[in-house]
Parts: sequence; C-alpha cells; structure tokens
Amino acid sequence: MASLYRKFRPETFSAVIGQEHVTKTLINQISTGRIGHAYLFTGSRGVGKTTCARIFAKAINCLDPQDGSPCGKCEVCKALSAPNMDILEIDAASNNGVDDAREIREKVNYPPVNGKYKIYIIDEVHMLTGSAFNALLKTLEEPPAHAVFILATTEVHKLPATILSRCMRFDFRLVSVDEITALICDVYDKEGKKYDLDAIRYIASAAEGSVRDALSIADMCMSFSQGKLTYEQALGALGGVDKSKIRALFTAIATSDCGKCFEAINDLAVSGKSMSLIAKELTFYARDLLLLKTAPKLLVETEEHIAMMKEDLASSSTEFLTTMITLFSSLDAELRYSVSPRIVLETACIRACKLAVTDISALEERVARLERNGVKVADNAEPAAPPADVSMSAPMAWGKVISYFRNNESTRLCTLVGNHRDVEIKNGEFIIRCDDDYLDFCNDATLDALNRAFAYYNIGYKIRIDKISKQDNDKELERLKAMVGKDVKINITK
Ligand SMILES: [Zn+2]
Repeated sequence: MASLYRKFRPETFSAVIGQEHVTKTLINQISTGRIGHAYLFTGSRGVGKTTCARIFAKAINCLDPQDGSPCGKCEVCKALSAPNMDILEIDAASNNGVDDAREIREKVNYPPVNGKYKIYIIDEVHMLTGSAFNALLKTLEEPPAHAVFILATTEVHKLPATILSRCMRFDFRLVSVDEITALICDVYDKEGKKYDLDAIRYIASAAEGSVRDALSIADMCMSFSQGKLTYEQALGALGGVDKSKIRALFTAIATSDCGKCFEAINDLAVSGKSMSLIAKELTFYARDLLLLKTAPKLLVETEEHIAMMKEDLASSSTEFLTTMITLFSSLDAELRYSVSPRIVLETACIRACKLAVTDISALEERVARLERNGVKVADNAEPAAPPADVSMSAPMAWGKVISYFRNNESTRLCTLVGNHRDVEIKNGEFIIRCDDDYLDFCNDATLDALNRAFAYYNIGYKIRIDKISKQDNDKELERLKAMVGKDVKINITK
C-alpha cells in the first residue's frame, strides 16, 4: 500500500495547504504567461516545496491549464505524469559536484520533448559545492528560452548572493495545526478510518508544521490501531505523555501538595515515561497556561482541555508560571547526567511547591476561588501561622537572604545581594540602603524576590529600600567637614 503522503500528494495548487501566498503568485504567472527562468523555494522540510515545483512544472507545459493548475487530461499532462525528459529532478545532496552542474549546463540546451519548457528541479540546492555553484550560475546567467530552474532549499542562508540575486524567491511557511488537522481528518475520511478529533489534533501538533511528517505519523497511527483511532492510541504510537497525568503533577505543585507530587511522578514513571520527558511536558504545560492567560488566540487546544486548563490557571500567577518554566527547562542537563534523575525531578517539584506557597498573589486567587465555590475561608480556619521572627540581627537575616537567592534566583540577583552589605534594622524595618551602583534593588522583581526570601525564613521585618544618590553622599561629607573643620580628612567606607 502506498504511503498516505504519496497517495495524497496534491496534483493541483488548490490542494496545497498553508501556502496560499506562494500558490497565488504562481497561478497568476501561469495565467498571464510570464514565466521566469529561475525560482527559489525556501522553507522547512515537508511544507510543500517539491510538490509546488512539480505542479508548476506541469502547469506551464499543460495545453489547457485549469485555474493555473495542470489539467491532468491533455497529452502533455499525460506524458509528464510518467518518467520523462522534460521535468528533471536532481537531488543536490548526492549530486553536488562540479561535473553534475556541468552536465546540467550541457543538457539544458536540448529542447523539451513534450511541452514548451524543460524544467530542472534541484532539491537541497545548498549542498552544491562552490565550483558547482559557479557552473550553475553560468547557466542561470544565460539560460536557453525553454529552460526553467526551480531551486529548493531548507537552508537559504547557505546560498551565495550571486545565485539569490538571479532567482525569484518564495518563502514557504510552517503549516498551522488547524490546517494540518483538517487535512488529516479529510485523509482519514477518504480512507474510511474512524478517529477522535483529539487524536488528530495531537498528531497535527506533533508534526510541528510539516505536512509530510504529519501524514507519516497519521500513517503510522493508522496501522497502529485497528478500529477507531483514540487519543490514547495516538499518544502510545508517538510515545507521548498523557496530559491528564501531567496536569495532576502540575496541580499537586500549584497547591503545594508534596505527597501528591510524589504520587504523580510515580504514576508517570510506572507508565514508562522518562524524567526528562516529564520535565519537558511540565514546562510545555506551564507555557500553555501562560499562553492561555496572555494570548489565548495562539493556544491550540480543544474546548475540553481549555476548560480544564482554566481551573489550573486560577491557582497560578504569571510569576509562578514563569518560575516553573525557568526551573523545569533548566533541568535538562542535570537530568541527563544524573545517576538518579528521578530524585532530581522530585527535588525540583518539591522546590516548586515551596515557591507556590510563597506566591502570595496565587494564594489570594485560590482563596477567592474557594470562596466563590461556597467555601468559607475564615481567619481561624487555617492553622495559626508561627509568629514571624523579629529577633534576627541584620547581618544574620541578610545571610539568609543571600543563601535563598543562591538557591532560587538568577545569577545576576545572587551577585547583587552577595556584593551588598549596607543593611540595617530600625524600628521593625529592614532597611537596604543603595546608591547608584545598586539601583537594581529598586525594582519590583527584586523586591518580590526579597519578600519571598523573608517569607521563606519567616523573617518578620518589613523591607524598606532607601535610595541614596552619590550627590547625597557628597553633601553629607561637606556637612561633616564643615562641622569638624576643614583640615580633617574623612574617609567614608562602604
Ligand atoms: Zn494538461
């Protein structure tokens, strides 16, 4: 049985999906008869470059083109459907030498056998050697009237400028999940195969914009399942992770339920998923939630999933989500080289749980949600929090802040607090004095991080950041000098 990709390869421009900006221009050229000598088709693999090149090659030769596409019925179309001497496909990956380019140069002069044009489709053209490019360039500079070159490449930046300047360039884009979903549904319908829409969407998103990949995966899934293709079967065929299990882990973290975290990880591990895959899926899930919060239009999910995601969104602030993404996306290397990746992942999840606890805005959102659901959150319903500690000295508290930053915050912030010493406790306030060199303290993100560190160690002081400009320092110096007399030297040390 022919693969789905071959079987459903478009024969006309209207059957090509996701590349209207390209096909429209090509159709216009065919209907006006203004055909160029050199075209460059660029874009990722499997998005339709070679397919469009083949349709275009047939269409410009067709005796009776229909809406710019080959009719498929006339004698030329029939002749060009079989192997022929007029449409020549060359794979530059395996024919990249100067001799190959010279051969093209000699043979291009022979006129076409069937139609009006002789077309060379050169795939992966960036693989040609330097001298082969030069030989090709000579042909492109003075092509015979019947010659059309279509160069296709995934890596356009590797082409010399001399070649680029001779070609009419068309950029093929990645095909959207919606377009690919519609295509696979259509293919499955035509094959008489039943499916769950969820399964098809999952295949479409796994293909990452490539129609060819999507159809190969769809093909694989089709042979994988006998009856109706379900979401679980598609997951199984692709070795993916069940979203509901990832959701369970995420919810455990967001509600800082360490026990549930261990259970969820165990559940995923039992189903044979690697720790790196779990970390990756968790990152993607947090990213999807962030997308749902900020740019919902870009999120590709079923209504059902979105409804479930909205529940998770209610208990997670933007800051918590970005921290989750940073934490779990940076685990990759550690997981790869660790002797016990499972412990690495578990520890990371527990750390994330703690972050969720100190995430005040998320807590407020959770309380609000519980109250909306009819749960009365009374002040005395929660176990009394231990009294905040106000016995710590300033250097001791600052030491704790530094160690907290070292474990939880960016290197930049660690250096910032690590280098700073000018702190003091006065009237129950923890005062951080900073001059122009430490202005980074004066932003909300740093202040939030400081508050998290205080909350983490239950330090009871309120944080105050005092700005002192260099000018103030100088004024103070002048005042002191005036007080003690001009001859005295004063050194102010930081
Ligand atoms: Zn025709």
